[in-house]
Amino acid sequence: MVQKRQAVRAFSYQTSKGEIRIGVETEEGVFNFTHAWEIFKEIKARGRGPDFHFLQMMVEMDFFNGETFREVLSTLRQFRSLDDLRLDGKIRFEVPIARPQKILCIGRNFKAHAEEWGAQVPEEPIFFAKMPSALLPHEGTIVLPRGIGRVDHELELAVVIGKAGRDIKAEAAWEYVAGYCVANDVTARDLQRKDMEARRPWLRSKSFDTFCPLGPFLVPRDEVPDIVERRMELRVNGQVRQRSVVGHMVFPIPELISHISRHMTLAPGDIICTGTPEGTLPLRAGDVVEAEIEGIGLLRNPVAEGKA
Ligand code: ZN
Repeated sequence: MVQKRQAVRAFSYQTSKGEIRIGVETEEGVFNFTHAWEIFKEIKARGRGPDFHFLQMMVEMDFFNGETFREVLSTLRQFRSLDDLRLDGKIRFEVPIARPQKILCIGRNFKAHAEEWGAQVPEEPIFFAKMPSALLPHEGTIVLPRGIGRVDHELELAVVIGKAGRDIKAEAAWEYVAGYCVANDVTARDLQRKDMEARRPWLRSKSFDTFCPLGPFLVPRDEVPDIVERRMELRVNGQVRQRSVVGHMVFPIPELISHISRHMTLAPGDIICTGTPEGTLPLRAGDVVEAEIEGIGLLRNPVAEGKA
């Protein structure tokens, strides 16, 4: 069997002093990339070059790709040991993209999921918004607001936009993708249904605080050319609830980007949650949700009830 090259995976983390850093995982280990980049600049350009305070800045400045991470680490290795850059022990993950201009979600983009709700597959992509204040990191607690009724998990591949564009042609759309994360589009299902029946927007059902777990990694697009073949699985307390393949989407990633960009400019750091497969079911206090996409990451979040 052909051994796939392990993807370089980037992440944001918090140090013991509460500072935010960029980290990177490669086949050689896990490293403090913020520090590695500073040393790289010293070697290459006597310290000149851009500062990346956050992972999102690497995306915005168009430096976010697997080659950059690999080149920085291999350059350093020629001059010094990487041992002092290694991160060992428990990592406190932060959301990889903390301040997106927008988070857009696609509805009914897996046929079997549309059918389980008695709905047809749409003729064109349905998209809606989720507020960035809902973002939650890996291991953060999903809080169920009291008295809200049913709240469901939705396993999704999140596509992070890498450069600004509008009226993007589907043929050119991959160039606008910086990378991928695992997302959980947590949804207050009863509230959503109530609002839809009353012909009101269902934004609030998608946008409670903690309703957008994202991470732990942001994986550069050039590291996963076979993204459509990657398997997706969501487990609650170890039991499988959702299982599919990225390529089973009704509207593939380039078509989603093309369609959305006919309505609004996409900006670097924007997040598109590309729709959930069948098997969306309720969450309860005490549950632990694991959303996983092969090679992209395993996003784990405990669930608790909110205060009255
Ligand atoms: Zn969704």
